[in-house]
Amino acid sequence: MIDLRSDTVTRPTRDMLTAMTSARTGDDVYGEDPTVRALEEQVAGLLGHEAGLFTVTGSLANMLAVRSLVPAGSELLCEAQAHVVRAELGAHAAVSGVTTRTWPHPRGLVDLDALAGMLAPDAGPYLVSTAAVAVEDTHNFGGGSVQPLDRLEGLRRLVTGTGVALHLDGARLWNAHVASGVALAERARGFATVSVSLSKGLGAPVGSVLVSSADLIATAREWRKRLGGGWRQAGVLAAAGAYALEHHVERLADDHANARLIADTLGLDAGVVETNIVVADVPDATAVVATARAEGVLVGSVGPRTVRAVTHLDVSTDDCRKAADVLARAVDPARGA
Ligand SMILES: *Cc1c(COP(=O)(O)O)cnc(C)c1O
Repeated sequence: MIDLRSDTVTRPTRDMLTAMTSARTGDDVYGEDPTVRALEEQVAGLLGHEAGLFTVTGSLANMLAVRSLVPAGSELLCEAQAHVVRAELGAHAAVSGVTTRTWPHPRGLVDLDALAGMLAPDAGPYLVSTAAVAVEDTHNFGGGSVQPLDRLEGLRRLVTGTGVALHLDGARLWNAHVASGVALAERARGFATVSVSLSKGLGAPVGSVLVSSADLIATAREWRKRLGGGWRQAGVLAAAGAYALEHHVERLADDHANARLIADTLGLDAGVVETNIVVADVPDATAVVATARAEGVLVGSVGPRTVRAVTHLDVSTDDCRKAADVLARAVDPARGA
């Protein structure tokens, strides 16, 4: 099977496993795991922040960030297909009492005009007040789109002096960095909190890192423990992340090239595939997924007429060429129907 359902399906490589088994460890709840601490410091440094917190998932990193920025009963603004509002099972409401309002954008991008009309930092005693805006870079359901830097700059200007904070869901910020050539810290500039995944394109088995100020991270560390996310000799997992940071960032360019190859075979418009995610409109997503599966290619449907293929470390250019042909055949008869 050529598995393009997600970049989360990668298995740790032999060298990554070696790094894991030789990691120095300690009890991380006591703050004594040297490998975890080194990873947290390294990622904070890369993103231009003071401190980091290693978490089991990106969802937990986002939950800790959002609850730190948004008091219960206040709102978070985000794009309508954002992971925080579509794919975290309502955690921010269910656990933290946060409400959300969304703006729609076909590629998940920041919409400054919409935001200018929505921001309500001091809505008074009858309406919900805005505490934060979340941005996703790259945007998953937006097709791996990279947020344009001028919109991020516009967003920073829009919230300056309003008291509204910015959260960056950077599960695939590595892809945005490699695709744009813009430094991670520059892409993360002005965001109070940033979450990044190690278990997506970077290929680690587990883990995300939340970065922010030292104070905010200290509070987030308490909440991580309160929510049951404290862990002990987590250095074995952090070692996989550190290995991935050293060996698996620049190679994301290969995943991007493979995704473009699939997009070209499917005849998608040039430029719609910016990173490792191919989102294609088809007449019947369930049928395309089933036909492709019967021919050894796994893709996902993210809507009744939308299929998604994600390239990653465990699929070669040859795999992607084969998968593209299978997908093109699966889509074509459906198109004719
Ligand atoms: C995958 C992902 C996350 C975090 O997912 P987990 O499965 O909880 O690690 C967060 N945001 C985006 C955009 C994602 O794609």
